[in-house]
Amino acid sequence: MNAQAQLATAFDVERIRADFPLLKRTVHGKPLVYFDNANTSQKPVSVIEAVDRHYREHNANVARAVHQLGEEATAAYESARDGLARFINAGSRNDIVLTSGTTQSINLVAYSFALPRLKPGDVILTTVMEHHANIVPWQLVAARSGATVKAAPIDQHGELILEEFIKLLTPDVKLACVAHVSNVLGTVNPVREIARECKKRGIPLLVDGSQAVPHRPVDVQALGCDFYAITGHKMLGPTGTGALWAKREHLQAMPPFFGGGEMIREVSFSGTTFAEPPHKFEAGTPNIAGFAGLSAAMDYYQSIGFDAIRAWEDRLLSYATERLRDIPGLRIIGEAKDKEPVISFLIDGAQATDLATLLDLEGVAVRSGHHCAHPLMQFYGVPATLRASLAFYNTREEIDAFITALLKVRKLLL
Ligand code: PMP
Repeated sequence: MNAQAQLATAFDVERIRADFPLLKRTVHGKPLVYFDNANTSQKPVSVIEAVDRHYREHNANVARAVHQLGEEATAAYESARDGLARFINAGSRNDIVLTSGTTQSINLVAYSFALPRLKPGDVILTTVMEHHANIVPWQLVAARSGATVKAAPIDQHGELILEEFIKLLTPDVKLACVAHVSNVLGTVNPVREIARECKKRGIPLLVDGSQAVPHRPVDVQALGCDFYAITGHKMLGPTGTGALWAKREHLQAMPPFFGGGEMIREVSFSGTTFAEPPHKFEAGTPNIAGFAGLSAAMDYYQSIGFDAIRAWEDRLLSYATERLRDIPGLRIIGEAKDKEPVISFLIDGAQATDLATLLDLEGVAVRSGHHCAHPLMQFYGVPATLRASLAFYNTREEIDAFITALLKVRKLLL
C-alpha cells in the first residue's frame, strides 16, 4: 500500500463526523447527505464554541478600548491574522488584510489597486471558468476606466488552455486574475506556471483561492502570485470572514478603499493620514467573533492535516465519479486531470433544478444552477448543472445514498 492509500485507510471519518453537529440532522425525514460544500462548509463544534465563547466571555470592540475585554477581543481578532499568515504561508502577518470574504478581497484589489492604474485600452485578463466575484468587479472598474476584460479559453475537459492564456498576456494586460480551483469544475489551475509567465512580463496576478484553501495546503510565496483572496465560510469558518494576502509593495502603494474608524493615523479637515497596511484597509468594526471562529477552523484543519484530507477526498472523488459514470445519460462537466472533489453533471432529459428539488426530498443537498459562473455555462451551452461538492467529512456510504436517490428521482422525471 502506498502512503496515500495508507492515509485514506487510517482516516477515521466517523470520529471526524462526530465533531460536526449539523451532520447528524435529518432533512424531510431522511438522514442528511450534505454535498454542497463548495457553497459553504459545515462547522465543527470547536468553531461554533469559539464564536459562542467570544460573545459569552470576551465581547468588546477591537483596538478602541484599553480595558481588559477590549484587549481580549483585539487579541482574538489579531490572532486570526497570525493564523491566516501561517495557514497560507504569508511572509508577514502585516501582508494579511482581514475582509468579509473573497468578494470583498477582490473588490478591494479592483478599486484600490487596479482602478487608479487603468487607462483606456488596458486589459484585465481572466478566464472563462471564473466565479462572478472574479469577473464583475473587473468589469465595473473597466467601465470606469475605459479598460476591457478578456477571458482566456478552456477546453472541453474544463482545463485552462495555458498556451492561449500565455498568448493573451500582451503588453496591454495590466492585471491577470484566475481561480486556483474552479467552483463548478473542480479544476486546479497551474497557478505556479501562470505566475511565472505573468512575472516574466511584469503583469500582477490575483488568484481567487476560495475553493483551494479548504482542500490543499497553500503557500502564497511559493505560488509566486501578487494577490491571493480567500473566504472563511468555505473552510469551516463563520460566514463574513475572509482575507486578502498581497505583496507588501502593493499594499504600501494602494490607497484605502473604505474610509472610517480604525484605518487612520490622524484625522482633520485639513487632511487625514492613514494607518500602515493592513489596518488602513480595515475600516469599521469587523466580524470579531467570526475571526475567533476562523482561528478555531484553521486549528481544526491542522489537527487533521492536509495529507490525510487529500488522501480521503481523492478517494471520495474517484468513487463518486465512478458511480456517476455508471448512470445512463449522465454527463460530467469538468474532467480535468488535477481536480478537487467537485462534480458538476447533467442528466439527459431532466432539468438540473427539478433533480435537485427531488434530491432534497431524499435528504440530499446538492446545488443546481449556474453557480455564479454564467460565462462557463455559456461555454458549455447549458443553463445550469447539478453540482455535488464533497468535503473530508463525507463518506462512501453517503455517496451510495446519493446515487440511490439520484437513480430514484431520475426515474420519476424520465
Ligand atoms: N470565488 C469562488 C471560486 C467561489 O466559489 C466563491 C463562492 N461561491 C466566491 C469567489 C465568493 O466567495 P464569497 O461569497 O464568500 O465572497
